[in-house]
Amino acid sequence: MVFFTGAGISAESGISTFRDPDGYWSKYDPMKLASPEGFKEDPELVLRWYAARRQLAGKAQPNPGHLAITQFQKLFPHSVVITQNVDGLHARAGNEPVWELHGNIHRQKCLKCAEEVAFNPDNPDGINYCACGGMLRPDVVWFGESLSISILNQAFDAVKSCSLLFTIGTSTQVYPAAQLPFEALNQGAFVIEVNPEPTPFSAKADLSLRDPVGKVLPNLYEEFYAALF
Ligand SMILES: [Zn+2]
Repeated sequence: MVFFTGAGISAESGISTFRDPDGYWSKYDPMKLASPEGFKEDPELVLRWYAARRQLAGKAQPNPGHLAITQFQKLFPHSVVITQNVDGLHARAGNEPVWELHGNIHRQKCLKCAEEVAFNPDNPDGINYCACGGMLRPDVVWFGESLSISILNQAFDAVKSCSLLFTIGTSTQVYPAAQLPFEALNQGAFVIEVNPEPTPFSAKADLSLRDPVGKVLPNLYEEFYAALF
């Protein structure tokens, strides 16, 4: 099985991509907060935004959808999670393996040598430097940047050999990741979409469900389990 996930599953844990509960960050242009140009222009602003997102993600809890994936992975050990989310909730729910196409906000890397460096406890929200002198930046894929080819290849390989793919909480509009569910269909896998809104993929899916992930996945898990044992 492949679980391909997007913002929708995080939203059910109270995390929304560019909005925040008190609305403070809504006034900023996402392009300034999540692009190499924006970081160059105002690194402090970008780092403060990521610190706020890390805090929000740290407080959020994995929801029943994440937890059901853990159960599925125990039942079908070669199942993988391919996510566009950067909040780390899949791993915290015990999902394993999780392939993060867009990186993870709980990591940072050097702008110059790309080395991963631990957060500085004395200055977690401000500008910090790598031993090589390069400035540290969030280890995420920004607007205008390319996804890691190795993770992407790994993802396409898994999708090409899966028998069931769930596409969960993703609008299936951002390529190349949006190609994954189509790829699964093309090779003959059964594809189930779980998304509150219809997407460009809905009409193609073998099954397209509008209920929350936190309801659909635990129910499907129960049905799988009952059918197998
Ligand atoms: Zn460096």
